[in-house]
Amino acid sequence: MPPSGIATSDRIDSLPLPIRHADDIFVDGVWTPADSSERRGVIDPATAHEWGSVPIGNSADLGAAVSSARRAFDRGRWPRMAPSERAAVLRRAADRLELLAQPLALTNTLENGTPVAESGGGATNAASIFRYFATLAPLLESDDVRPAPAGTHETLVRRDPIGVCALIAPWNFPINLVVVKLAPALLAGCTVVIKPASLTPLSVRFIVQALTEAGIPPGVVNVVTGSGELGDQLVRHPDIDKVAFTGSTEVGRKIARQCGELLRPVTLELGGKSSAIVLPDADLGVLRSALIRSTLRNTGQTCYISTRILVPDSRHDEIVATIVGTVAAAPQGDPLDPATVFGPSASVAQKESVLAHIAGARAQGAHVALGGDAASMPAPFSAGNFVEPTVLTQVSRDMSVAREEIFGPVLTVLRYGDVDEAVDLANATEFGLGGIVFGGDETVALQVAERVDSGSVGVNFFASNHAAPFGGRRDSGLGVEYGPEGLHAYLTYKSIHRRRRKA
Ligand code: NAP
Ligand code: MG
Repeated sequence: MPPSGIATSDRIDSLPLPIRHADDIFVDGVWTPADSSERRGVIDPATAHEWGSVPIGNSADLGAAVSSARRAFDRGRWPRMAPSERAAVLRRAADRLELLAQPLALTNTLENGTPVAESGGGATNAASIFRYFATLAPLLESDDVRPAPAGTHETLVRRDPIGVCALIAPWNFPINLVVVKLAPALLAGCTVVIKPASLTPLSVRFIVQALTEAGIPPGVVNVVTGSGELGDQLVRHPDIDKVAFTGSTEVGRKIARQCGELLRPVTLELGGKSSAIVLPDADLGVLRSALIRSTLRNTGQTCYISTRILVPDSRHDEIVATIVGTVAAAPQGDPLDPATVFGPSASVAQKESVLAHIAGARAQGAHVALGGDAASMPAPFSAGNFVEPTVLTQVSRDMSVAREEIFGPVLTVLRYGDVDEAVDLANATEFGLGGIVFGGDETVALQVAERVDSGSVGVNFFASNHAAPFGGRRDSGLGVEYGPEGLHAYLTYKSIHRRRRKA
């Protein structure tokens, strides 16, 4: 952390941030002044200092962005290019993006408080997603020819791009959660309109820059900043063919309702409340080394993390001591400091919501084993949204903190008697996104992982894999991202029947 007393503005003014105040939207391949004169500040959640601003786009801005994407889809060359040529653009964009890693990381960190140890990997991660989807181009290169089972004819099965896609992202991973939609959409030949979250409107510009430098045709990618209300207009716009959303379950349900009425394809990556099952034979060294990443990543603001830790009665106190010791030893502070593990919550509203969850848990009888309050920090961080890393024990399955997503640096510990009870507890939530099983015998741990009713589970660690589907069950969403399965969401199929060709 810098010496206390450093002036907030000095801290940020000296940083190499290429974009601070923007008055434009990205349409037809150029940054164009927004029609709207309304603006929203971009605030550093570590200091409450407003350091940037963007337009709050209006319906004219949205209309311009959607029309641009529509024209590029209906008449432009992108959907008509060979998939391998589109893949080449994605690969070039990946190379360009890596060169922007530093300003991208600083911008992201000053938007949402993600520690630079995490945001510093954002460009590399996004580049690897572009490169992964580029490897899938051969899946699109030729039509399948499928003989009819009756032997009467054959059918050409074509994979066409689904059309103009609305990509709506949340603030917690503002680069990754755009790119995981954008890369398959672009490979498929779609055009897009991106609506970033209000808290994180600037970092997405580095993706636009990389794609522009890579030679993407004008109109294929469009960006409009604005509110949730603008997101709603985008979802309902008549020229949108598909919606891809990551965010809260509440907003996801609203979007699903709209798309249901419109019969508009939609993928939803929503909230989670995942469990870490610590089996009686777990190696506590493994638990210690994987704990922060798999249960509190990004100051607890990660959808799939296992924030409910299920601990066997037989080893309760020992495991709680490991958890408390590990969390207490992880430094909290200036997210620009590479040593920082826990930053601030991303907004005042988020901080208040986390503190309200903790207060509710206390009232319902949970024990605060670590933290539990707003963190007191030296200036200029005293004005930031810091919540103490917190461990709640004696949590029972009916408490709100055991059922609702907290989205802050808070772990809940629940006890179990036998493994059946652990699995039952893990599955006793409305969500089904992530999970992890810690166990000394990996064969047994894998068997337990198979019983966890969720889209992804790790054994002794958790890491996503660009080549494997990621998605939630029940209230955690609809559909998947990543892998060939994630590409399917951006395709529409067409069967062309013809007489069989004589050999
Ligand atoms: P959010 O409030 O649902 O917002 C997500 C995005 O939707 C933002 O761009 C938001 O715009 C926009 N939006 C708000 N209302 C809308 C509406 N009625 N129609 C269309 N768009 C609308 O979520 P958040 O608070 O940013 O993000 C946190 C949530 O995301 C958590 O629940 C977390 O679990 C979830 N998440 C899920 C995954 C996953 O892959 N499953 C990954 C990360 C996060 P504004 O920002 O302008 O309001
Ligand atoms: Mg929100």
